[in-house]
Amino acid sequence: MYKLDLQKLTLLLALLAGFLTFGNSFFAGYFTQRDQLFEQTLEANRAYARKLADITDRFFLNSRRELAYAAESLSTRFDDKDWRDAQTARLKLKGDQFSRAVIISANGQIVSASPESASLVGITVNSVGATQALTLRAPLITDPYVATDGTYLLAVTHPIFAPDGSYLGYISASLFLRERNVLHELLGVHYHRDGSYLYVVDTQGNLIFHEDGQRVGQNVSSNAVVQRVLLGHEGGQRVINTLGVDMLAGYAPIQSTGWGIVAQRPTAAITAKLAELARTTLLNAVPFALFSLAVFWWLSRLISAPIRALADTAEHWGAPEAASRISTVNSWYFEVSRLKVAMLAGVSLLQQKMVALEAASMTDPLTGLRNRRGMAFALKQFDLLDQRYAAVTLDIDHFKQVNDQHGHDVGDAVLRFLAEIMRECSRPTDVLCRMGGEEFLMLLPETDASGASIAAERLLARLRQTVSPTGTPVTASIGIACSGNHASPEATFKAADEALYRAKRAGRDRIVIAAT
Ligand code: GH3
Ligand code: MG
Ligand code: MG
Repeated sequence: MYKLDLQKLTLLLALLAGFLTFGNSFFAGYFTQRDQLFEQTLEANRAYARKLADITDRFFLNSRRELAYAAESLSTRFDDKDWRDAQTARLKLKGDQFSRAVIISANGQIVSASPESASLVGITVNSVGATQALTLRAPLITDPYVATDGTYLLAVTHPIFAPDGSYLGYISASLFLRERNVLHELLGVHYHRDGSYLYVVDTQGNLIFHEDGQRVGQNVSSNAVVQRVLLGHEGGQRVINTLGVDMLAGYAPIQSTGWGIVAQRPTAAITAKLAELARTTLLNAVPFALFSLAVFWWLSRLISAPIRALADTAEHWGAPEAASRISTVNSWYFEVSRLKVAMLAGVSLLQQKMVALEAASMTDPLTGLRNRRGMAFALKQFDLLDQRYAAVTLDIDHFKQVNDQHGHDVGDAVLRFLAEIMRECSRPTDVLCRMGGEEFLMLLPETDASGASIAAERLLARLRQTVSPTGTPVTASIGIACSGNHASPEATFKAADEALYRAKRAGRDRIVIAAT
């Protein structure tokens, strides 16, 4: 099964951490910025609505003053047609702010109009606005209404009283709401590409002014912001407008008329800008992200390299160079240095065990002398060093009887006893082997036949004088051959064996040297 390596894992971890951190700060930043922008937009729209409400207010207060002045001047000359016409003409012309100026007598008849229109003068009016003005007999700014001639308008009116206080009628200046009017001038309408716009509602929530002229007259009182502003509040609020568009609206009431003015900007315009900003932020982050990736990669390599190196040595623990390979691993951090120490200890233990095992495999367990493998190993050394040696074969005499008379245990003890004596009678460089049963072989390096027979004689003498585990001494027969006299180790051993055979035949407990 495929397994991720440490480098990829650490790299993944670093990337994940980096990604999460970046994502977190990115989104936190995004939402903070968004909220801030929303807040700023709401405040800007509120301030804008406030300013325009003040301008509109001033306009209507001025208009009211103009009308009051005209009404005053008509007080004494209401019956003078030219004077009446002069007043309406003046009002209409002044700054060209009003769409129409009319004077209406107390019985509701139009007695003067500007622009002059024959069809208007003489008409009796019965519209909502006119009825209101005639009934109230007080200064008035009407909500929009449909005039007698069918025009959708709003009017600023002022009553005219004779000096004796009798009611003569009223003078009215009106704005045609479906045409371009002074509100367009006042509100300085400019269309924004981002969909920002403003509108004005009357006290009933009817649109008096809207960038989309078609919507003038429409009632939008269901709009939450309209409801707030008509209660006289000023502020900013996110709102879904009447057409279902998410808007950031600022609003302010117009004191003199009780209307409300709302300036708003689509929320989408801001989120689009934010999305653009987010995109640039992300793009700007790319070079640093790539740099970070490279750094992460480098660091993850640095971290994983020693572990990998240690892992690689693990496959070759048996090799002699394992310890030195482990030693070279750069253990620059805590866990690796501990691991390294542990592995070095493990390797050394393993190699000790292997040495011990190897030694055990070459040793005869009963006597502790070499076995055939140990003997072969020693022969190889002699061969490598080109060393001559004398081969001395030894066989215990009548050993079968030992077993028969004293039992196998005593037989074994005699074998160990003989091995001990062989050790005592030999030099450290001599190779002592048990070839099987009660047959032994000694290899005496750099020794000739006479030297070997002296050593063998000494051994036999010791045997004769020493009490064995049987209670009496045992004897042995020995055959000697020198490697220098034979072509191969096998030939040498065979010669020694033949000499031993002859020693047995000759009566045992003696030495025979192989013929050259
Ligand atoms: P000879 O003088 O002719 O050598 O007589 P022998 O009785 O020693 O004859 P041989 O060498 O043929 O006998 C070998 C005996 O050694 C046979 C077996 O009972 C005994 N023997 C072989 N290996 C062991 C051993 O590991 N332990 C014991 N106790 N006896 C062994
Ligand atoms: Mg034998
Ligand atoms: Mg024997």
